[in-house]
Amino acid sequence: MRKSVSFGDAVFDYAVDVGVREHPALKKCREETAAMGGVSIMQIAPEQGAFMGLVAKLMNVKRYIEVGTFTGYSALSVALSLADDGHADALDISEDYMEKARGYWRMAGQERKVTGHVAPAVQTMERMLKDGAANQYDFAFIDADKANYDAYYERMLKLVRPGGLIVIDNVLWSGKVADLSDTSPDTSAIRALNSKIKADQRVDTVLLPFADGIFMCRKR
Ligand code: CA
Repeated sequence: MRKSVSFGDAVFDYAVDVGVREHPALKKCREETAAMGGVSIMQIAPEQGAFMGLVAKLMNVKRYIEVGTFTGYSALSVALSLADDGHADALDISEDYMEKARGYWRMAGQERKVTGHVAPAVQTMERMLKDGAANQYDFAFIDADKANYDAYYERMLKLVRPGGLIVIDNVLWSGKVADLSDTSPDTSAIRALNSKIKADQRVDTVLLPFADGIFMCRKR
């Protein structure tokens, strides 16, 4: 039986209003990204940013890595929670988006804590692994092209230390994963990874039906 509360916009707006403390640079990032139109759907929700920031603090995260930076909201949400000696690596394919992201990190005084890497992310991750980054990260976030989700997951499993956390975004894909007649490439890729993770003995997991669904995976 469903135990999660369902509610309309007014309750949701109330929850975000009282539940999210949004840094002014995050707010500006969100508002300006919304003005970009349809692509703004690629930005995480403010309550998700707040959640990731709190998780980073709870875990005393020193090193964070993400795939799919877009205009920088998720990286900044975590960077603001890192100690001064903490560091975030932000991977994206678009120099345009990365340039926007850097602006918000600078605005929040966090630019020294975040390194943007503009390249196909698998390539960047392979280079990091070759340079000795295996087991060096406390917290990883996957939120990029869905066709490569499994490739990103496998590499994050190498980069993250035992006991570290991998968060995967959009695992409910607006509900499409539950519609078995939807066999489009993105839906199929997410559905396949979800099933794989369910049986994956390398991780402890829970799928949170929050925002567009996030899979929390703790590396064993
Ligand atoms: Ca996303």
